[in-house]
Amino acid sequence: MTKLEELIINRIQETGPISISTFMRECLLHPEHGFYTQRNVLGSQGDFITSPEISQMFGEILGLCLAQYWIDLDRPERFALVEFGPGSGTLILDILRAGSYVKGFTNACEIFLVEASSKLKSQQQKKLSKFNVNWINDDLLLPKIPTFFIANEFFDALPVKQYHKKNDRWYEVQVGLKNEQLCLGLSEGTTTHTELETRFKNCVNGDTVEISDDAIRISKSIGQIINNEGGCALIIDYGDWHSLGSTLQALKSHKFKKIFDRPGEVDLTCHVDFEALARNSGCAYSRLTTQGVFLERLGISDRANLLLKNSKPEHKQSIISAHRRLTHPDEMGTLFKVLGLYAENHNSPAGLVK
Ligand code: SAH
Repeated sequence: MTKLEELIINRIQETGPISISTFMRECLLHPEHGFYTQRNVLGSQGDFITSPEISQMFGEILGLCLAQYWIDLDRPERFALVEFGPGSGTLILDILRAGSYVKGFTNACEIFLVEASSKLKSQQQKKLSKFNVNWINDDLLLPKIPTFFIANEFFDALPVKQYHKKNDRWYEVQVGLKNEQLCLGLSEGTTTHTELETRFKNCVNGDTVEISDDAIRISKSIGQIINNEGGCALIIDYGDWHSLGSTLQALKSHKFKKIFDRPGEVDLTCHVDFEALARNSGCAYSRLTTQGVFLERLGISDRANLLLKNSKPEHKQSIISAHRRLTHPDEMGTLFKVLGLYAENHNSPAGLVK
């Protein structure tokens, strides 16, 4: 049993069952025993590998997409670039390097990172030491200038609550105890949530749905800033337009685990419900587009060919397989989606359509 599991069991014994969101938050971000706060989670030695860690091409394409949006806004003298959950800092570095080929872009850019893990924050500090970087909370206190947001594999890490419909009423799925072991069960009383009464009103008995209050709150703040100051958001993650069923999953060292295995040592994530982000943002949003299509539209194959032409023979195979991994439907190309948020009466970011 992990130390965190012991703490959670004690808490449930004292005060009763807890929300899945409380369980997830403790497992991921507990200051001493949380997954993101204690482990080296990223990369081939870690628990999972993300697109920017697979290849520089991913960040370069995002960088050029943002630089194009900056040009379309008539090259504002100052803009904020906000990344949620920057991990090791690779993505923002690749974005800035690609953006530096567009005259004026990097000089106009003010960098803001939203990072909950102090361990990852110090990695980011080291990696980005050449840049003037501000770390902020997810309340997003930002200067009033056009703002570009990026989030790759951030929203899947936000805690969700689960609700189950039974006898035409909603109950919350909670974490409780059976024979002193963690288990899932339904709340005693019925419950309600505006999203249950609106987006999920057509659900039938037996359905389970997930709602992330953090994701809703953050997408509202993003939308408000985009509507007031101009700019856009690129949100990339696994998931679908409308979430249905439990998608909570556990992962350790690139392998699936049970959700109650070794709390704090195992990643817990959910598929992102993109409709919740789009509708709650209150700004214009693009059609949900697969990562493969988005990257192809923005020229990843041309970029891969150029890298191949200039690379040593021993590096060629890794460029070919990175291109495949990012774009192919059997790999990350279809599972991962891209959602663009932008101000009404403006164009969607390049590579995405309304
Ligand atoms: N975007 C990076 C890392 C993805 S992992 C990449 O693509 O490689 C998820 C990131 O989100 C980590 O940096 C993690 O510490 C951070 N994170 C998770 N939950 C968070 C929260 N509630 N607030 C801020 N950052 C969070």
